[in-house]
Amino acid sequence: MRYLFQYRRYRLPFRAAVRTAHGVWTEREGLIVRLEAESGATGYGEAAVIPWFGTETADAAESVCRELGGGFEEQRLAAIAAKLPCLRNAFAAARAEIESRAALGTDAASSNANSEEVGKENGPYLGITALLPAGRAALAEIAPKAEGGFRSFKWKVGVGEFADELALLDDLCAALPQGGKLRLDANGAWDRRRAERWLERCAERPVEFVEQPIATDARGAQDVLLGLANDYPTAIALDESLVDETDVERWLGLGWPGIFVIKPALFGDVASVMARLAAAHAEVVFSSALETAIGARRALEVAFAWGSRNEINRVSSQQPARSLGFGVWPLFTDARFEGPALAPFLRKQDVERLRPEVVWNALG
Ligand code: MG
Repeated sequence: MRYLFQYRRYRLPFRAAVRTAHGVWTEREGLIVRLEAESGATGYGEAAVIPWFGTETADAAESVCRELGGGFEEQRLAAIAAKLPCLRNAFAAARAEIESRAALGTDAASSNANSEEVGKENGPYLGITALLPAGRAALAEIAPKAEGGFRSFKWKVGVGEFADELALLDDLCAALPQGGKLRLDANGAWDRRRAERWLERCAERPVEFVEQPIATDARGAQDVLLGLANDYPTAIALDESLVDETDVERWLGLGWPGIFVIKPALFGDVASVMARLAAAHAEVVFSSALETAIGARRALEVAFAWGSRNEINRVSSQQPARSLGFGVWPLFTDARFEGPALAPFLRKQDVERLRPEVVWNALG
């Protein structure tokens, strides 16, 4: 199979700077790839690189795209290095889109019937976690978001003064709506002692989990994380610890008792990662990589596929599926790049409605 190939690089300012323990993020760089099969079917994919998270840079991804030229044989994609996971992800997404269009074209009636049946059986929507700003500003955002129907909230910690943030926790918990839960994301900002102070405080409070309390490069990080997960009742989620497939494999091998935060955009072969996590009955929370509508559509398709699978496997658990860490929109100053509108629930149709061509054309 031969593909015609084009790519477009983007640099998109965020509507509001994203503050994390890694620093301030003001614009997003990445690439969109477009493949066209001999049949004329097209597929798009996004390389939503996050170099400070451990992925390739936009420059590295672009230099491979330049080498690929205006067209290539399918086999050349297999040679793209594992150290370019976001670019591999983009090509996998583009090819999957072409394949699904081909399937629809040849047997549209039965495909439609299938997707309707899946929707009926497995629940048509997933919850969304609202992202709160760091610091005290979070407090004022809870009530309007709760009014809008959100019940899951995420607060970035490890950004301001330790004591100030710890003192704010009770105010935030008090502001939560009935049944509301808070996720804390430290982005690796704490040491062991600070993480323990927080986890003691979280124990009796409506905290769903604490994400990445310890940096991956901290001394003995692996043992410290395992220790914290076993010593405290609040679940711990790995995020920065999971940069690529080998990380997921290693933590599964260690019997990680907590949650795996999966940004589908960051894995070169996300299908095999999800298959491994499913086989291990892992707890997964999906998270945005702050991608455009093209990457978001693909990532959310992965999340819905996982949701359906879990629903089927749900025999003893009465737990609802965990909310998606996708409460990030509107994200860009230019609305043509946005994912679905921010709402407390996302339906599969909202994802299917996203048009890759709009993003592609906006970069033309
Ligand atoms: Mg995180």
